[in-house]
Amino acid sequence: MSITQQVATRSTCDRAQVGAIIVKDRRILTTGYNGAPAGLPHCDEVGHLMIDGHCVRTLHAEQNAILQAALHGVSVAGGTVYVTHQPCLTCAKMIINAGLVRVVYAGTYPDANARAFLSQAGVALVHIDLSVSQSAPVPALDA
Ligand SMILES: [Zn+2]
Ligand SMILES: [Zn+2]
Repeated sequence: MSITQQVATRSTCDRAQVGAIIVKDRRILTTGYNGAPAGLPHCDEVGHLMIDGHCVRTLHAEQNAILQAALHGVSVAGGTVYVTHQPCLTCAKMIINAGLVRVVYAGTYPDANARAFLSQAGVALVHIDLSVSQSAPVPALDA
């Protein structure tokens, strides 16, 4: 999770500093953070693009991690995604269809539908409360 938090610091949208890494067979396959699509201006350059209270300029960290795998032709099926926050519903649906089998997240996000979709699809959801204790056992990168 500390690597995931490090990745999150690269986010270019300060409304959501989220980082994600996809791990399979004890290897980090890809990383992602919130940011604009490649080649387009970022929020920290041109400001947010707000619609209905959300900044829609960026791809989410989980989406960028999955897309990086597609870009490089790497299968993430059977892998685990570590995220600094709970995935939203769109990311949950992408996680399901990317074949990921486990989500380990730290911060919360108020999206009960996302949690319900993941659990109905059989994706394990593991919440780590990093605010309780930094010495709490963290699941090994064993996916
Ligand atoms: Zn933004
Ligand atoms: Zn999302």
